[in-house]
Amino acid sequence: MKLATPNTPLHQILERMANAAAQAGRPPSAVQLIAVSKKQPIEAIEALYAAGQHRFGESYIQEAQKKINQLKDVPLEWHFIGPIQSNKTRPIAALFSWVHSVDRLSIAQRLNDQRPAELPPLNICLQVNISHETSKSGVLIDSEAQYEALAILASAIGRLPRLQLRGLMAIPAHSTDPIAQRQAFHRVYLAQRFLNEQGIALDSLSMGMSDDLEAAIAEGATMVRVGTALFGQRSA
Ligand SMILES: *Cc1c(COP(=O)(O)O)cnc(C)c1O
Repeated sequence: MKLATPNTPLHQILERMANAAAQAGRPPSAVQLIAVSKKQPIEAIEALYAAGQHRFGESYIQEAQKKINQLKDVPLEWHFIGPIQSNKTRPIAALFSWVHSVDRLSIAQRLNDQRPAELPPLNICLQVNISHETSKSGVLIDSEAQYEALAILASAIGRLPRLQLRGLMAIPAHSTDPIAQRQAFHRVYLAQRFLNEQGIALDSLSMGMSDDLEAAIAEGATMVRVGTALFGQRSA
C-alpha cells in the first residue's frame, strides 16, 4: 500500500484507523477508508488519489455523475452513500461499485434491474436507523418484529442476482461520549450478527465518521466514511 505523506489529514486519519484496529485486535487491512468527496472539487479528489486514496463516497447523484464522468480515466472505486429517490436509481446502478443507503426492496429491485450487464454485481449495504430522533432514513431495529422485517428484506435483496448484499450501514446521532458511541454502533453489530445467524452472510459494516471512527472500529466497522476531516469544509 502506498503511504500518505506524514502529517497530512489523510495520514492522520489512516493512523487513527490503524491504531483503533490494533486496539481491537484487528489487522489494519480490516478497515477501509471511504473519502466522502461530496461538494468537493475534482482537484481535491485527484490530490487525494495521488496520495494513495482510491475509495470515494458521494451523496448527490447529479453532482456525482459529473465528477465520475470527468474522472473516468482514474481507477477510483465509487460508493453512493446518500438518500436514494426511485427516479435516480439508473445512474447509481451504472456508475457506482457500492451503494450504502438502500433501505427498501423497491429501490433494491430497481438497482438490480438497472445494473448494466457488463459490470459485476453492485455491492449493497442496508441502511439501518439507530437514531430515529434525527433521521428518517433506514430500517428500524428496535423490536423483535423489526428484526424479523430486516431479515425478510435482507433475504429478498440477497436473491437479486445483480446485487451482492454485503452488510449494514448506519449514521448514529452525533455524540462526543465514547460510551454512547460504542452503544450505538454495538446495535448495528448485533443486527449484523443476527442476520448472519439467520444464514444471511454479511462481511461489511459501514459506520464511523471523523468524530467516532475509533468507537465504530471497536464495534466491527469495515468501512469508515470521512469527509471534512480529510478535505476541509465543503463548499455550499
Ligand atoms: C457527508 C457524509 C459523511 C461525511 O461527513 P463529514 O462530516 O464530512 O465527515 C459520512 N457519511 C454520510 C452518509 C454522509 O452523508
